[in-house]
Amino acid sequence: MPTPRIDINLNKIAHNAKTLSSLFQEKGIDIIAVTKGVCAHPHIANILVKNGVTILADSRIANIKKMQEAGVKATFLLIRTPMISQSESVVLDTDMSLNSELSVIKKLSEFALLHGKVHKIILMVELGDLREGILPSQLENTIKKVLTLKGIHLEGIGTNLACFSGVKPTTEKMELLSSIAISIEKKFRIKLSMISGGNSANYNWFSTTKDVGRINNLRLGESIFLGYEPLTGRPIPKLYQDAFIMTAEVIELKNKSSVPDGEIGLDAFGNKPKFKDQGMIRRAILAIGVQDVMVAGLTPKLDTEILGAGSDHIIINAKKEELKVGGEVSFTLKYGALVTAMNSSYIFKNIKTPITAKEYCAIVEEKDKFHKKKTAIMVVKENNSPLMSLQDSDFNLIFEKSIQKNYRYLVRKEVYEKIGRISRLLDNQGKKLIIRSAWRSFEHQQKLWNQKVSFLKKKYPKKTVEEISKIVSRFIATEKQSTHSTGGAVDALIYDLQKKCVLDFGTNDGLQIDLNEKCYPKHPSISEEARKNRKFLMELFENEDFVCDHKEYWHFDYGNIGWAVEKNKKYANYGILKESYVQSAALDYPDKVFFYL
Ligand SMILES: *Cc1c(COP(=O)(O)O)cnc(C)c1O
Repeated sequence: MPTPRIDINLNKIAHNAKTLSSLFQEKGIDIIAVTKGVCAHPHIANILVKNGVTILADSRIANIKKMQEAGVKATFLLIRTPMISQSESVVLDTDMSLNSELSVIKKLSEFALLHGKVHKIILMVELGDLREGILPSQLENTIKKVLTLKGIHLEGIGTNLACFSGVKPTTEKMELLSSIAISIEKKFRIKLSMISGGNSANYNWFSTTKDVGRINNLRLGESIFLGYEPLTGRPIPKLYQDAFIMTAEVIELKNKSSVPDGEIGLDAFGNKPKFKDQGMIRRAILAIGVQDVMVAGLTPKLDTEILGAGSDHIIINAKKEELKVGGEVSFTLKYGALVTAMNSSYIFKNIKTPITAKEYCAIVEEKDKFHKKKTAIMVVKENNSPLMSLQDSDFNLIFEKSIQKNYRYLVRKEVYEKIGRISRLLDNQGKKLIIRSAWRSFEHQQKLWNQKVSFLKKKYPKKTVEEISKIVSRFIATEKQSTHSTGGAVDALIYDLQKKCVLDFGTNDGLQIDLNEKCYPKHPSISEEARKNRKFLMELFENEDFVCDHKEYWHFDYGNIGWAVEKNKKYANYGILKESYVQSAALDYPDKVFFYL
């Protein structure tokens, strides 16, 4: 992969946009996504639109045109007060603009009339940050004139704080904007549809205020892309801070002094540099510099320190990290770094696109094939851990009815203990673990296979035996291949005691599971709820060192060959346990079902 590059994770951006959108919606605020920070990258714009954003805003007409030419379908808002010289293009190429100069609005009106259009405007109000905005005392006067202009529709008012002077959008400021909106509506007997309270810096105001007043809109860039609240620089809960990762290549790595040798004058940028004496250090030079990115906005992912940068180099103290020439060093980005990097033609933009269902399934099937090859040669060192019946435990469990008579839900001792811990965790959350299946004899496995075959034969009478077998083998292992014969596999779901139902996992109706590709654990086309529930189930087991099956979200392995392959172990601990062994053990210890090889 080329360097320097910026890796862009569209799934994370989509997650941030959706999370913020539903959060602000709780108090009736719509969000506009501001694309200037990512140079209006069309893939990013598209993912925002796909995830429910209807208005995209940018400070530059060129960026808006870029998105339109790439086929992005949205309403486009120009957020930098328009240049009067570009008035015609504003009318032709954007749907709406933020404004603060009457002379410009008059020009917009002329061009709107000329082209038979209506251009929507939002009047910006100056509330203390001293960037764009009409002084509150002059607002009514301006509006009086705006309302007489043809081809212009006053969509609303807005303000922008926390930019030029870092003035906080406090409750007081927002109440002021609300009251201005109310008095204008009253005075002019109009309805303002959009009261746009600000940008990402409004997050703290929003989280602490009970009443957002008339504010019904925010324009968000930084918080969507980087998951930070800009006033404090703190991460916003539940958002990703690493949707963008910057990577550069090491071109020199040497032990050198931490202080320069010689008389010190001005550096390449006219500054007098200062140095901290740390003795000899391991210095790495990266092939990226201030021409490419605002270096102050980079945070190394490894424990290293940026010592300084020139137009084409960043120099870092590699400390104890194992770097090498030709190796890569990665950084997370702050807003300044993001804006500059996205604008640099020297930096490769590596977009990780969300995977389609078809692609995902192909990957799972490939992985599964590979997995099967590896399990076939996995060594077992049987550790003789006994089988125990979950039915004899005092754990809070629900047992799904089995086609096998007198089924005992046997698992190995360690698995038994793990299930105990999982069930106790669920007890505290008003939920219960459902055990669908555990140890199975070959005969039991064969029964399952036959049952599925006859079901499908009836469903698809035209299919051949081979075709039917192929479908069945996608989900049911042949007797010899099933890890259920080891006592290290369990099939589980979760029951919600409050809602009195089995959780929704996307392919189940209660306990009834429809076997299809959507059973692959991370299938992209299942609902948000199902995704959340699968994640919950999988984490419960994975935290107990189980691995989830590639194709079945309910199947978990521990200690057996499937587990050993996934965990990169040299050998598995649990081999196959045959019916005859289990029966003889049950005879020897009739009151306690457990078993030694
Ligand atoms: C840049 C900008 C925004 C977005 O700011 P973020 O801090 O990135 O959310 C909103 N409104 C205006 C007028 C802007 O210039």
